[in-house]
Amino acid sequence: MSLPTIDQEYLVDFLVKLLNIASPTGFAEPAIVFVEKELSQFSQLQLTRTRKGALVAKWEVESTEAPIALTAHVDTLGAVVKEIKSNGRLKLSRIGGIQWPTVETEGVWVLSSKGEKVRGSVLIDTASGHIYSAAGSETPRNDEHMEVRLDARITSEKETRELGIKIGDCVAFDPRVEVTNGFVRSRFLDDKACVANMVSAIKSLVDAGQEPARTTYFLISNYEEVGHGASTGIPSDVVELVTVDMAVVGKGQESDEFSATLCIKDSGGVYHEGLNKKLRALAEQHGIPYKTDVYPFYGSDGEAFWRAGGDVALALIGPGIDASHNYERAHMDGLGATTNWIMAYLLD
Ligand SMILES: [Zn+2]
Repeated sequence: MSLPTIDQEYLVDFLVKLLNIASPTGFAEPAIVFVEKELSQFSQLQLTRTRKGALVAKWEVESTEAPIALTAHVDTLGAVVKEIKSNGRLKLSRIGGIQWPTVETEGVWVLSSKGEKVRGSVLIDTASGHIYSAAGSETPRNDEHMEVRLDARITSEKETRELGIKIGDCVAFDPRVEVTNGFVRSRFLDDKACVANMVSAIKSLVDAGQEPARTTYFLISNYEEVGHGASTGIPSDVVELVTVDMAVVGKGQESDEFSATLCIKDSGGVYHEGLNKKLRALAEQHGIPYKTDVYPFYGSDGEAFWRAGGDVALALIGPGIDASHNYERAHMDGLGATTNWIMAYLLD
C-alpha cells in the first residue's frame, strides 16, 4: 500500500505560521489555540484539553486493537523578566536553558500579563564598540550581563514600570523564519517542525479518505522544554507512544536534515526495542530515508511519560535539525520523511 501524498505547500505554510507565534514554555497558549483551530476543521477528531492546557486530539476508528498515541510539543525556549534595572533595562531568567550567545542582539517582544507588547532586543551590558572595544567581547555572556534594551524612551526603572512591564512577564525571542531552497531556517523548529509533521500527516490521510488502523490520540504538549510536558495527558488504555521530536544533527551524529531519525538512546536512556523494530520495518517497507542515532544532551516527552509511570512501548522519531536550541535549520526532505513515517505508522 502506498502512502497518501503530502501537501508540501500546506506543511510549509502551517509551519511558518506556527513558528511566528511566540510560545515559550508557560506562555504557549496562543500556539495551542492555533493548532486547536487548525485541527478543528477535521470532523474525524475529537478535541479536548488537559487541565495543564495541552491539546488532545482523538481519532476514533472501528478496531479491536488497543489505541496508540503520538506526541509533539509547541512550547519553546524563552525567558521572563527577572529584574528591572535602575536604567530601565531588563534582566532575564531563562526558560528551558537557552544559551545566551545564541540570542545576543536578537529582537524580542516583552508580553505583559495585561496584553501589552513592548519591542526590544537582547544585548550584553558592554555592547558599544566605541566604549568597550575588544574588552566587550571578554564580558561573560550570562544572566548578570545580558539585558533587554526596550525600544521606548525610558531611562529609569520607574519609566519601564509605567510601560506596564512587570516582573515575570514573558520575553519571546524572534524566530527569524526563512524558507530557501527547501531549507527552513528558524528558531524553535524544535519542536514546531514535528507538530507540523503530525498535522500534515492527519490532513494527508483525511484528503485521501483514509483513517488510522487503530484509535489514535495526538497530544500537543505545552511543557516539554522544562521536562514534564507529556507526563500526563495520555489515556491509560494507550499501548504505544511515538514521540515526534527533532533529531540531533552535527559533529559525531548520524542524523542529517534530509532524513528522519529513530533515536535508540538519549540522556534519559534507551527506547523500546519492539516498537523500534516496528518503525524500522515500516520505514524500510515504504522507502522512507531514515537513520538511527544516539543523542548526547537530550530528554524527550515520551520519557517524561515513562517517568510519571506511563506503561507503554515508547519510541522517538523526528526530522534532523541542525544547530538545535540555536538558530536551527531543517529541510523539506527530512520533514517529508517524518510525515511519511507518521502516516505509515498510523495506517499499520
Ligand atoms: Zn523538543
